[in-house]
Parts: sequence; C-alpha cells; structure tokens
Amino acid sequence: MRLGLFGGGRLGVVVGDLVHDASALVPIEAAGVGGALAALIRSGAALDADDVAAAPAFPLEGIEWEAPLPRPGKIIGAPANYFEHVDEMPDSSTVVEWGVFLKAGTSVLAPGGTIRLPYLDKRTDHEGELAVVIGRGGRDISLESARAHVFGYTCALDITVRSTEDRSTRKSFDTFTPLGPLVVTADELGSDGDLGLRLTVNGGLRQESTTAKLIYGVPELIAYASSVMTLEPGDVIATGTPAGVGPIVDGDVVEVSIDRVGSLRVEVTADGAIRYADRPGPRTALQRG
Ligand code: MN
Repeated sequence: MRLGLFGGGRLGVVVGDLVHDASALVPIEAAGVGGALAALIRSGAALDADDVAAAPAFPLEGIEWEAPLPRPGKIIGAPANYFEHVDEMPDSSTVVEWGVFLKAGTSVLAPGGTIRLPYLDKRTDHEGELAVVIGRGGRDISLESARAHVFGYTCALDITVRSTEDRSTRKSFDTFTPLGPLVVTADELGSDGDLGLRLTVNGGLRQESTTAKLIYGVPELIAYASSVMTLEPGDVIATGTPAGVGPIVDGDVVEVSIDRVGSLRVEVTADGAIRYADRPGPRTALQRG
C-alpha cells in the first residue's frame, strides 16, 4: 500500500487515481502528535483492502500531502554511508567509524513546505536520502530478521549546516527533515537493494545514485542502530546521502526522487536567518576559574 496524511491528519491510501480516507479504520483518536499513520503502525494491524476500497475516496490529483510521520519518536541518521560521498568530505571516516546520529523529531517538514535557513553566512546543504520506517520495534535485531521490522519507505532530505557543532545540532533545525509524501509499504515496494535516487535544485541535477551503493544497507542499519537503542514503531532511519551534496539558498526549489517510492519537493527561504555570530549564547570572555 501507499499511505500518507492529508486534510489535517487524515490517513489516505492511494489506490489507482483515488485516495481513500481510511481514518475510520485506525485508532485515530489515540494518534496524538505522531499522527494517524504512526497510530496504525503502532497497532501492528494491516489495513484490509476491502475496508479501504469501501472508504470515502477523493481524486489523487490535487491532494496536498502532509508529512506522513509528523513527529517520529526517533529520526536516526547514517553519516557517510556512500563511498562517493565520503570522497567529497574532509574526513575519510564512514558510518562504520561514525556510527549513527539522531535528529530532532520536531525537524520534520511536510512536502511542499519551506526549509528555513538559520544563518545568512553559513553554508546549508541538501542531502537526498531514502528513509526507512520501522514497523515492529526491537532491540538487538539480527541482520537476518531486520527486514521483518520494516514497515515501509519514504523520501527524506537531511538538511545540514556545515559548521562546527555536533551533527545533532547542525541537522535538527526546524524544517530540516522534509519527509514524504507517501510511505510505500515493504510488501508493495519489494527489494530496497537497488533504488535509483536523484536530487535536483531548481531543476538542475545535483545527486544521482542508487541504494546498491550504500555501505550499510537497510538490514545493517537496523541491526547496528538496534544494538545501540531500542527501535520503536514509526521510528525513521535516514539511510545516508550519495555524492553531490551542495548548498541551498533563498528561493531554491529542491526535489528528491526515488524509484518506486516517490518525489518530495520543498522550497527554501532565508527569511528570518541571522548572522552566525548573532546566535544565542555567550562566546567571548569566558574564563575558567
Ligand atoms: Mn545525511
């Protein structure tokens, strides 16, 4: 199935040219800030195709999709997980040495939304990535059973300020994790082993690769991440970005497209950006003792 949120948090299932409103089929009252899709994933239940077909339907064209998971419990990132990207970075370490990092759940941005650049004078980059949505949670998940813990896949951007702070700071600004538009379930997608990924800025190609080139593929990421932290239903793993990362600036339109998963398009603004030196916090005349 292909699932998303629309119309103020309603759960939509795409069938052909129609979107069926399956909100009545999930415990939506318990959805909270995590949203109806997260509630469905937590329930562990699969939607019945006949029930979906009987639900009210709207034309797919014209639907404005919201983020499918507006507030994931965890957004786990994989740094330097394509060798081509490692080669363009100042450090030759890979995910094997870095491990994984966390982004704030509040950094999610809906499709069609606007990335807000925080600083006028610090480079901020696009990173187009395949995102994995965890279905069944777990700890110390084995490589062999990892795929059984995948609910589905969606498109993500891992927006990053190129400054000196920890990754969790540089990647966690509000709007820095565009997500969606749809989550394609694992059974619908089939193999995630060779999905083409392209990213354009204002229509110009910046990144083009395939998940076949991931250093840690999806099973390795799940096994590794779950050796550190318990994975929960609805957690998101951004699998890393290939070569071609580059700066985004005010007025840009960024689009990442992944084979059989979808296309995610967002805009960029510098409205409200400040000089890096003007960020809060004392930085001068700090004397120890
Ligand atoms: Mn990344």
